[in-house]
Amino acid sequence: MSFRSGRHFLHVPGPTNVPDRVLRAMSRPTIDHRGPQFAELTGRLLTGLRDAFGNPDGDVIIYPASGSGGWEASISNTMRPGDRVLMFDQGFFAQGWRRTASAFGLEVDLVEHDWSLPVSADAVEQQLRYDNGAEPYKSLMIVHNETTTGVTTDIPAIRAALDAANHDALLMVDAVSSLGSMPLEQVEWGVDVIVCGSQKGLMLPPGLAFNSISPKALRAHDNASLPNAYWDWVAMRTQNQSGFFPYTPATNLLFGLEEALAMLFEEGLYAVFARHSRLAAATRAAVQAWGLRVFCSDPNAYSSSVTAVAVPGGVDADDLRAVILDNFDLSLGTGLGKLQGQVFRIGHLGDINDLMLAGVLSGIEMGLRLAGVEHQSGGVAAALEELASTAPTAPTAPSRPRADPQRIR
Ligand code: PLP
Repeated sequence: MSFRSGRHFLHVPGPTNVPDRVLRAMSRPTIDHRGPQFAELTGRLLTGLRDAFGNPDGDVIIYPASGSGGWEASISNTMRPGDRVLMFDQGFFAQGWRRTASAFGLEVDLVEHDWSLPVSADAVEQQLRYDNGAEPYKSLMIVHNETTTGVTTDIPAIRAALDAANHDALLMVDAVSSLGSMPLEQVEWGVDVIVCGSQKGLMLPPGLAFNSISPKALRAHDNASLPNAYWDWVAMRTQNQSGFFPYTPATNLLFGLEEALAMLFEEGLYAVFARHSRLAAATRAAVQAWGLRVFCSDPNAYSSSVTAVAVPGGVDADDLRAVILDNFDLSLGTGLGKLQGQVFRIGHLGDINDLMLAGVLSGIEMGLRLAGVEHQSGGVAAALEELASTAPTAPTAPSRPRADPQRIR
């Protein structure tokens, strides 16, 4: 590849840009993971993570893994072979979690679903009420923000549907592309297991996976009987209590995690969410002005972290992405699964500000022109107008106190 000046624009919906502060923190010399300094680090990280997940008195497990490892952990710690679980075909990542569940011998009911829409509470309630399987579902597994489609599902409404159906299934939520970008309150929302990864809203490189767990999920662990060693919550919890890990942790990623959490708490989590929501609105303003279609067809379900953009028929979205990468050194997300070639995805999450987004949208607008894709000009102008005319307004934060950045560091 020829020399490229300036910075690469990484705007796939994860991995995201790693801030310089985090890169510097990770470049520190590795320390003894069985020494006293490490134990203190673990304590600070778990405090910060509990706060980030809205699980202030619960347990967060940190694995050296990608998000998919977090899926495996959520299943192998709670289920028994043949357990029935309920899922909806929300997109490529829901399908991935389903494949993991099937590989563990679970019986997965995957309900057909329109990828452009969120899972509705009614659909969940119907499915739970009129289920006539031999055994009740043990778990409902929902992707909070489907990164394939840019569609966000309302988790408190899903919780309400479980309660309305008086159902005891565990509520498991994939928050890989929502944590750190949009509100997520585990205890308040009644979620039993949250699965996450490091490379998106947490602004770290790939390499850490998380399970944040409720007391009910921990009780399910007592009856679980799937093969489970590396992922064992209890072994991890026991060691974490004295500040250590059952095996060698990803020490330098943990240095980065400490810095990333400090950054999130310095800005204020709810200010971070407001920033994401505003950048997402500006992105959609550009897409609409270009005359292209935001793939998500429910305005209440627009994602704050990723926008999937449908290209006109006859255009291959990957050809457009290639033109944009070649000419402007800007990486956008490919269409996944059945959306391959039909959409491109703009990641507007993590360490990003107004001018970075303006650069991304400019690259796309110039790319549309160079690739000969039928569109109207003026998308960037519409986004700038949106940004210039809106001040960020923070969504209402829960009343409990948030972590003190000084405690994280
Ligand atoms: N879940 C969602 C919503 C994702 O976006 C991803 C990855 O992008 C995953 C799970 C899988 O995570 P990983 O690729 O880190 O294994």
